[in-house]
Amino acid sequence: MPRNWAALLLDLLFPPRCMGCGRRGDWLCPVCRGDLHPITGPLCWKCGRPWAGRDECPLCQGRLSALQGLRAAFFFDGPLRQGIHRFKYRGVRSLAAPLAQLLLPTLDALPWSFDVVVPVPLHPARQRQRGYNQSVLLAAELGRQRGLAVVTSAISRTRNTPPQMELSAAERQANVAGVFAGRPGALDGQRVLLLDDVGTTGSTLDACAMGARQAGAAEVYALVLARAR
Ligand SMILES: [Zn+2]
Ligand SMILES: [Zn+2]
Repeated sequence: MPRNWAALLLDLLFPPRCMGCGRRGDWLCPVCRGDLHPITGPLCWKCGRPWAGRDECPLCQGRLSALQGLRAAFFFDGPLRQGIHRFKYRGVRSLAAPLAQLLLPTLDALPWSFDVVVPVPLHPARQRQRGYNQSVLLAAELGRQRGLAVVTSAISRTRNTPPQMELSAAERQANVAGVFAGRPGALDGQRVLLLDDVGTTGSTLDACAMGARQAGAAEVYALVLARAR
């Protein structure tokens, strides 16, 4: 069955609901779409935070990181926050396609080139509990829509850590240090784009970038759907 027929059938059986307000009819109703907050305007070239200065933003200055650049499509609030919550914790896997759709403009405008997309891995215990890794689903959708290579076997998460949102910046960094292991040679000489749903301070992405380096990556960048303000 062609994919669009399958999608049509699924829509008939399970009519889409707005990821923000739950209204039936579409994955994102016009009201909630208008309530998204894309991150635009002058940005720090490194971390992608709004920043009108010439060089890096103050948070990036003098900061060493295995991650060479980060971009986020939206601020993590309103309907998108609801949508990511449904996607991640309520088992609504079908949100992968509309959420990936929201990422496309930022993906297409990235100021760097890359060879492979690597979704940030979950710890195996958490993945078993959830049944899936939301970042892998997002990466698969982006891969399908843009013909990108997606690699999921190069980096693993060796320690299960408390959710980052509840910690201070310093705690976050300590929380994730050394949490990711790269399989040596798995990303040899590759330019890697890490992908995650939400970025908070970037500590998880930093740690994951170290894993990518361990796997041999030559350059490491990251893209997230949403970042905390
Ligand atoms: Zn809505
Ligand atoms: Zn910055």
